Amino acid sequence: MQESEAGTHNSGPPRDEYDFVIVGSGAGGGPLAANLALAGHSVLVLEAGDDHACPYYSIPIMHLYAGEDANMRWDFFVRHWDEREMQAKDSKFVAERDGVLYPRGSTLGGSTAISAMITVYPHPSVWDRLADLTGDPSWGSAPMRKLFHRLESWRGVDALPLPGDDEAARNRKAAHGAEGWLGTTRANPQVGGREPMFLDIIDAMEQTSRHRFGIPQEITLPRDPNALDTPPQYQGMAFISVAVRDGHRNGSRERLQDVQRRASSNLEIRLNTLATKVVFNGDRAVGVEYLEGERLYAAAPVTSSVDDAGRRDGEVPADPRPSVVYARKEVILAGGAYNTPQLLKLSGIGPRAELEQHGIAVRVDAPGVGANLHDRYEVAVTCELDRDYPIFDGSELDVPSDLTAGDAMFSEWRDKANGPYTTNGTLAAIIAKSSVAKQDSDLIVFSIPIDFHGYYPGYSRNGMEFHNRLSMLVLKAHTNNRAGTVSLRSSDPREVPDIRFRYFEEGTAGHEEDLEGVVDGIEIARDVIDHLQLAGVAREMVPGSAVTDRAALKDFVRQQAWGHHACGTAKIGRPDDPNAVLDGDFRVRGVQGLRVVDASIFPDIPGFFIALAVYMISEKASDVIAAEHQDDDSSSVAVTQGPAKSSGDAE
Ligand SMILES: Cc1cc2nc3c(=O)[nH]c(=O)nc-3n(C[C@H](O)[C@H](O)[C@H](O)COP(=O)(O)OP(=O)(O)OC[C@H]3O[C@@H](n4cnc5c(N)ncnc54)[C@H](O)[C@@H]3O)c2cc1C
Repeated sequence: MQESEAGTHNSGPPRDEYDFVIVGSGAGGGPLAANLALAGHSVLVLEAGDDHACPYYSIPIMHLYAGEDANMRWDFFVRHWDEREMQAKDSKFVAERDGVLYPRGSTLGGSTAISAMITVYPHPSVWDRLADLTGDPSWGSAPMRKLFHRLESWRGVDALPLPGDDEAARNRKAAHGAEGWLGTTRANPQVGGREPMFLDIIDAMEQTSRHRFGIPQEITLPRDPNALDTPPQYQGMAFISVAVRDGHRNGSRERLQDVQRRASSNLEIRLNTLATKVVFNGDRAVGVEYLEGERLYAAAPVTSSVDDAGRRDGEVPADPRPSVVYARKEVILAGGAYNTPQLLKLSGIGPRAELEQHGIAVRVDAPGVGANLHDRYEVAVTCELDRDYPIFDGSELDVPSDLTAGDAMFSEWRDKANGPYTTNGTLAAIIAKSSVAKQDSDLIVFSIPIDFHGYYPGYSRNGMEFHNRLSMLVLKAHTNNRAGTVSLRSSDPREVPDIRFRYFEEGTAGHEEDLEGVVDGIEIARDVIDHLQLAGVAREMVPGSAVTDRAALKDFVRQQAWGHHACGTAKIGRPDDPNAVLDGDFRVRGVQGLRVVDASIFPDIPGFFIALAVYMISEKASDVIAAEHQDDDSSSVAVTQGPAKSSGDAE
């Protein structure tokens, strides 16, 4: 038996034991824990972060600040390029940390607590490919759509009817969910309508769409990207759906809190608890070893240049004592695309040579753990406009120190759960097929009236500081590159792994297409800017007006692209694929009683935005696991899917 394997359970004090131990409370772990608790199982969630309720979390427009809130984030510094000279060309490269900032949420709710809340339904082909891969029709797009319907509670203004539809027909065809736990909405068109410059930007996006894609006037825009009848090949203007309920961010955190209220005896959450290793008995996972304490992981930022313990950013604190909690039924890892492979490797499941290099006993030689890391490529076209947005006059675009005071927009959010602060700032989007798109549309270009051109220390303050900026963000979906890796630096569970994406030429086949596609997106973004009527562009800051031909634009993309939807590092795959870490029921191959349910599971990055896809796989895993354990001795709690009704929905 290995050092941390479970001993036999002799008489003595009762073991610290639950039916399920789940590591991570983010998009993957949170809904799963809630559903298993509702199904009558006793569930423990181990979450490395704290629960940090604060206005930056709650107020949708503050999401950039949430992303840099030291109480909610982990800072990873990743390499986009192995070649240092190439990497150093990125203006966001931080030489002292030898990488580019890649924020992740580490708090109750995981990255959904700091995300931009964008909730876009993944293309159906994502699920149909998984059904093919696993031979399991329950992964197909039709059954998966039912899970979206089950989790969603749509409260937005619907898209206008198309020719031949009336409003009722339109809404029926859209097939949104209404009773789920995730409140979704869109920026109320009346809010955008208050600011003529916003209307001008929205109009420029509409004109660009109509012109580029030949959309006649009788087809109303924007379309709803999450409507069931919006085809996966759709090209044109779309609104952006966000995870906002009653003017507040909602997500995994609220789902957990709601179920804790309703089934409290079944669901326990241990915050500030870093899981360090899965504990086995033979080949069965029977528990998790963990450390208790705040900010134990080296990615946790220190709030001043040196913290009380003399620790600087990136250094690990003194050694706390490990404890073990046991799982009667299963251990489920949901630590996200960086931490799940790290935990698997620390538990002896990973590529043999790497484990041996760090003195870790090999339990399963699994070369796919930490491989297949990939992401979307994103870039921005950011302009300085020749005037400020009048709506921002007198606005701090920040949380006031006195919450009873504040500017008019803050007061409107606080008192009426209404107004611009209930939005994430996205004005509208264009969905398109790049010149290299295969089947589904592969570009989304959206506008925000701030300066955002990627993640670097200080990005949130810089982004919100000026009132005359417009960023057109370009996201390329269905990227080809699969060459990224998450590798251990050591066997210390508090140390951050070495994360390398290997962009474009350093990556796998198809990098030329990835690059062409992103450049096509930049051309759409510039087209929109050319259609602006009210405001002039004082200067294009990023990439800059000197960067004109496609060769120069490609260099810009190579150097400045980023991503924030990392996935794929413990992928589902066929039994004959040596890199398949999981089977189609989320089980880790080669052991018993261990599953992964988070962004790591995807063989291919889903859709345009990943959070909703992770929520959906969390719901699917809940069904699979609950069905497997339905004959166990547990009694389910009679509860509905959605949260207890609150005082009316704002929109
Ligand atoms: C700034 C930002 C903006 C984003 N915006 C959007 C958006 O608008 N739309 C969208 O679709 N996606 C967005 N994303 C991406 C999306 O939020 C994530 O991809 C998604 O939440 C991933 O879900 P997950 O369950 O895999 O991991 P996470 O949600 O990151 O959750 C992982 C959790 O596990 C915990 N954990 C990790 N390791 C351990 C351990 N060893 N012990 C205990 N706990 C551990 C972490 O603390 C964390 O809370 C954004 C991400 C970021 C960072």
